[in-house]
Amino acid sequence: MTYDCIIIGLGPAGSSAAYYLAKKGLSVLALDKEKFPRHKPCGGCVSYKAEELLPPDFKSVVNNSINGAVFSYKGKKKAEFRGSNGPVGYMVSREIFDAYLVKKAEEAGAKVKEGERLLDIYDAKNSVIVFSSKGRYKGRYLIGADGANSSVAKRLGLAKERRLFLTINAEIKTDSAEDFSDLVEIDIGAIPYGYGWVFPKNGCLDIGIASIKDESFNPKKYFLEFIKKRPFLKDIKIEKTYAFRLPTNPENTPLNIIGKSTLLAGDAAGLTDPLVGEGIYYAIKSGQIAGETVLSLFNKGSDISNYRERILKEFISEFNYSWKAAKLIYSMPYFWSAVIKRNIKIVEFYYKVLRGEETYSSFSRKLKAIMPHPRHKMS
Ligand SMILES: Cc1cc2nc3c(=O)[nH]c(=O)nc-3n(C[C@H](O)[C@H](O)[C@H](O)COP(=O)(O)OP(=O)(O)OC[C@H]3O[C@@H](n4cnc5c(N)ncnc54)[C@H](O)[C@@H]3O)c2cc1C
Repeated sequence: MTYDCIIIGLGPAGSSAAYYLAKKGLSVLALDKEKFPRHKPCGGCVSYKAEELLPPDFKSVVNNSINGAVFSYKGKKKAEFRGSNGPVGYMVSREIFDAYLVKKAEEAGAKVKEGERLLDIYDAKNSVIVFSSKGRYKGRYLIGADGANSSVAKRLGLAKERRLFLTINAEIKTDSAEDFSDLVEIDIGAIPYGYGWVFPKNGCLDIGIASIKDESFNPKKYFLEFIKKRPFLKDIKIEKTYAFRLPTNPENTPLNIIGKSTLLAGDAAGLTDPLVGEGIYYAIKSGQIAGETVLSLFNKGSDISNYRERILKEFISEFNYSWKAAKLIYSMPYFWSAVIKRNIKIVEFYYKVLRGEETYSSFSRKLKAIMPHPRHKMS
C-alpha cells in the first residue's frame, strides 16, 4: 500500500505529526529505531506554552509544575523568583512523556513500528520510498523527525546549515531534589557563552550545561566545576553522564528543510531556541505544522514550500531575536546576573515568553534598553 505519510522518528515532533494526521483520517506509518519507553538525554522541562498543543490529559505524565527559578552566577545564588501569572513550565521524564505521545498517535490510528531503523530514502516529486532495517515502504509524503543526528536530513542533503552544540547532563538521585520542587536553578556563569542547570525530576535532579560558543567546545571541565560548586552535590556519585548534540539554526538561516516530498521537523530541522536550548515545544509545534502542511497538500493541492515559509515566520523570526538575547546575556554574564537580582520585571517578562504571552523580539528590546553603554548595544 501507499501511505499518505511516513514519519521517521517518534520523539515529540514525529508523534505530534502522526497524531495530527491520523486524527484527520490520513494513513500514517511511523517508524522509530528505539522501543518505547526509551532513554532521551534531556532536562525534561516543557514550557507552559506547549500546554495548548498537547492532548487534554497530558498532565497525567507531568511530575511537577515549575513556577520560577533560582538564578546563580558561578555557583553563588543571586536571586530567586516565582512568577506571578502561574507556572512557566512542567517537568516530565522523557521516557514517560515520549511513550505517552507515541501511545496517543497509535490510538489516533497511526501505524507505529518500534525498533525499526531508517536506512535509506528515495524522495521523488510524487512519492517517497523508505528502506528500513525491516522492510520497504511507499508513501506520498515523508516527515523527517529523527532528531539531532537526523539520517533523513543527511540522506537528502538538507539542513546542512544547522549548528550542533555539545551539551552534557546527568540524572542523579538525591534528597536535595525536594528543595527544588517548583523551581529550577539557572547559572549563567557556569560555562562561557551558555548556562548550567539543575532541574527537579521525579525525585532526581537533572544537572547539565550547554554552550553556544562553538561546535568543538568541550564542556566536561565546566560540568565538573559546576558540580563542585554546589554543596548539595558534594557527596553525590554520578553514575552516568550524557554528551549530546543540541541543534539550532544560525541567525538568518537559509532553512533548507524541505525536499521534493519530504519535510523536516523538530531537532532534525534545528528548531531549538538559541538562548536556552528549549526544543520540546518547537518539536511538538513543528510536527503539527508539518502535519497541517501535508493535509493541505492533499486537500488544496498547495505547495510544499509553504512549510518552510511558516517555520520562517513563526519560529525563525523569533529565534533571530533569541540569538541577539543569547549573545547579549552570555557575553556579560556577571552584569546580567546583577540585573536579574535587582530587576524582577525583566525576569517576569521572560517568564511571559515561556508562557507564550510575550515574544523574543519584545524581550530583546527590553534587554537592549537596560544596556549600560552604547558600545555594548546589539547590532
Ligand atoms: C542535554 C539536553 C537537555 C535538554 N533539555 C531540554 C529541556 O529541558 N526542555 C526542552 O524543551 N528541550 C530540551 N532539550 C532539547 C530537546 O530534548 C529536543 O529539542 C527534543 O527532544 C526534540 O524532539 P524531536 O522529536 O525533534 O527529536 P527526538 O526527541 O530526539 O526524537 C527523535 C527520534 O528519532 C529516532 N530516530 C533517530 N534516528 C532514527 C533512524 N535512523 N530511524 C528511525 N528512528 C530514528 C530516535 O530514536 C528518537 O526517538 C534538551 C536537549 C539536550 C541534549
